[in-house]
Amino acid sequence: MKIDMLGTGAAFVDPDRAQSGILVTLDNGTKYMFDCGAGTIHNMARANANPAEVKAIFLTHLHHDHICDFPLFAITGWMSDRPTSPIVLGPKGTQGFCTHLFEGGAFDADFRARGAYPLRQGNLAAIQPDVREVSPGLVYEDDDVRIYCDFVDHIPREISECFGVRLEAESKVIAFSGDTAPCDSMVELAKDADILFHECTFPESFIEFRSKSGVGTFAHTSPTALGQIAVDANVKKLVATHFGHFESTNQVIHKYAKHHMPVDEMGPHLMDEVVRDIRRNYNGPLQMAYDLLRIDL
Ligand SMILES: [Zn+2]
Repeated sequence: MKIDMLGTGAAFVDPDRAQSGILVTLDNGTKYMFDCGAGTIHNMARANANPAEVKAIFLTHLHHDHICDFPLFAITGWMSDRPTSPIVLGPKGTQGFCTHLFEGGAFDADFRARGAYPLRQGNLAAIQPDVREVSPGLVYEDDDVRIYCDFVDHIPREISECFGVRLEAESKVIAFSGDTAPCDSMVELAKDADILFHECTFPESFIEFRSKSGVGTFAHTSPTALGQIAVDANVKKLVATHFGHFESTNQVIHKYAKHHMPVDEMGPHLMDEVVRDIRRNYNGPLQMAYDLLRIDL
């Protein structure tokens, strides 16, 4: 299988990173996607893939940096002659999110204008997703893959359930954390995985800053804790992702990050600190993700 990192950033608009998104392409060409943050569909084109080819998409939770590009995913698939509904797996609320997008929803004008063309009337299924709100356990299975999920610990469950996922295909296992503080369920999902893609949103000191600032959640995984998770799960490779823009030198980001992190400490040097802290506990293969990183497994 091939894995394309379509987005490796977090909640801010970042010129150097799209928001969260991972594309998995099996050797037979079947595609699955995990998260669909802003910028991921443009990066999908850069990765030479088409949303119409994605069989199923898993939204780990309903924070905007994991779902912003879903309307673009659906509309682009519609315009690319996708013949069937995309399968959308996600937490409670996913059905409502999808239902309010097209007919009678936020993109109703687009739906009515584009849908007036006979060609587009022929594949309305492309914007009528087959939504399956999931519960922990085996949530999807076809001839090629099995996908399991479990709750992880990010925001209060009554606001949005947050899931980590495990995909088994071609005798390989990959796991993806979504957003989470360290939790046992993610260690279980990642057990003996060939690759664990895990959030690493902030350096140690930034998580501490956020726990005091009261702006945004600080329920993320510190680099030191991430190394321990990789050890506990016995993964063969760790890919850290979902970086919270802490390494950015962009002045616009610095301006809107000022309530969220210690701006004076931001910069690319922090990536070295993050690696050093992951290495306190974990000595196996490690990669710091960047947009359009391609991994052949
Ligand atoms: Zn996020």
